[in-house]
Amino acid sequence: SVQLVWFRNDLRLDDNPALHHACNRKDDQVIALYLLSEQQWDNHGVGNNQRSLIIKALLQLKKSLKQLNIPLIVKSIGQFDNSANALSEVCKSQGVDEIHFNIEYPINERRRDKLVVEHLSQVKCHRYVGDSVTAPWQITTQSNSAFKVFTPFSKACYTYLDSNPVHCYSIPDKRDAQNFNVINTGSDPIPDIKTSLNIPNIDENFLANQLDGFLESKLEDYKDDRDYPYVPGTSKLSAALAVGALSVRRCFEVASNSDKEYSKPWLNELLWRDFYRSVMWHFPHVCQGKAFNSVDKYINWNKDDAQLKRWQQGNTGIPIVDAAMRQLNETGWMHNRLRMVVASFLTKNLWIDWREGEAYFTQMLFDYDFASNNGGWQWSASVGTDAAPYFRVFNPASQQQKFDPKAEFIRKWVTELQGFETSDIHKFEKKALQNYEKPMVDLKFTRKLAIDSFKSAKSAA
Ligand code: FAD
Repeated sequence: SVQLVWFRNDLRLDDNPALHHACNRKDDQVIALYLLSEQQWDNHGVGNNQRSLIIKALLQLKKSLKQLNIPLIVKSIGQFDNSANALSEVCKSQGVDEIHFNIEYPINERRRDKLVVEHLSQVKCHRYVGDSVTAPWQITTQSNSAFKVFTPFSKACYTYLDSNPVHCYSIPDKRDAQNFNVINTGSDPIPDIKTSLNIPNIDENFLANQLDGFLESKLEDYKDDRDYPYVPGTSKLSAALAVGALSVRRCFEVASNSDKEYSKPWLNELLWRDFYRSVMWHFPHVCQGKAFNSVDKYINWNKDDAQLKRWQQGNTGIPIVDAAMRQLNETGWMHNRLRMVVASFLTKNLWIDWREGEAYFTQMLFDYDFASNNGGWQWSASVGTDAAPYFRVFNPASQQQKFDPKAEFIRKWVTELQGFETSDIHKFEKKALQNYEKPMVDLKFTRKLAIDSFKSAKSAA
């Protein structure tokens, strides 16, 4: 019979449950499909950085599938709405008997998949969990409801995983040459999408080495190093995980086999990724521009395009914020500590809507991931699940003293500060630094204003 693997945000061979199961029977014909939905990217505000990464992953996938003698058909369909028809045509023309795909959790993807399954009632559809360590419906409270706080969620995950450890799938065996030749694929061309930034290397072999290298040489110090943006102490695997060139289950499995004491802080981060997927699954309103917490409706965010632009461009006059935003603009990645700092600055000190920050990150990040981005922004704005308490506003001045004490990171990205003493850079609020902007707002004053405004919103809610 003919098996179709529908690839989506799982552009890899390793530990790909859908691919693995489609290849179960040696004599079956196996073909692969990717539906390119550029208009959907427009609707979701996805920028050229991540688009170019997906294209790179797709070209790579096509090549590596060819080595397995599996043809990849690419169809340009514009929007998700056209998925069911496109799949139906492919199924008809190729005589497909069964379809295999890995589940995606955001609301539009779920709607699309529901329609596809309904539309293709003649074809058997198999769904698998490939984009999270645990499935959102597996980890619930004792009363069967969703967790809203990370720590008990992670405890429940570890308990579940003790009795259901992750078992990854290896790359399927090469199929007979005729598997590749039998089909007239009728594929659309894969567009060339450009970015001026360096696209991360997401070759599967490279990623496997990157993961091993990180676990061997950095995991032990991860707990201490992970907060210092000048230290390359984190894995930098996020872009590969976001497009599914690397399996999060593989990361979890391999890291779990390392020393427990060292691996726990990193495993926890992988579970934060699961946590935000679970939030999105159980509370799908977060996918519709709404905050988890209804207090958000009572907040009157400032609408100030000029201030927003200064934040986006890294010209706020706050050294750590500017360094972080320039790292984002010049590399398409930002250190986690700094994502929290710049998000707090935008939402608390500038009192600008978190959705503006979320949208800018979506446009710029290679590793853009709806759940983690939305979760991170709602956390920072104190409107999400398990959010930062509203009265705890990050102070960028003390953040930079604590996490970039020698101002090394700041000097790297804010080149106009290179000639200044570290102590002067840290005194940016009091001391004028030549050729560098003055802070665009008073940090203490705006902090107090934010806390008061949030308090009023809370009492109105
Ligand atoms: P590591 O420290 O090596 O962590 C390993 C992996 O765990 C990461 O690659 C990521 O997949 C996951 N992870 C780590 N921290 C988190 C977290 N706090 N929440 C969810 N998953 C996590 N991460 C994204 O992948 N895409 C986003 O669009 C995104 N937007 C964010 C926006 C804000 C406002 C904040 C505060 C955080 C955001 N994060 C996002 C989470 C985090 O900043 C990045 O995952 C991390 O910086 C990636 O670097 P790394 O791969 O070196 O991480």
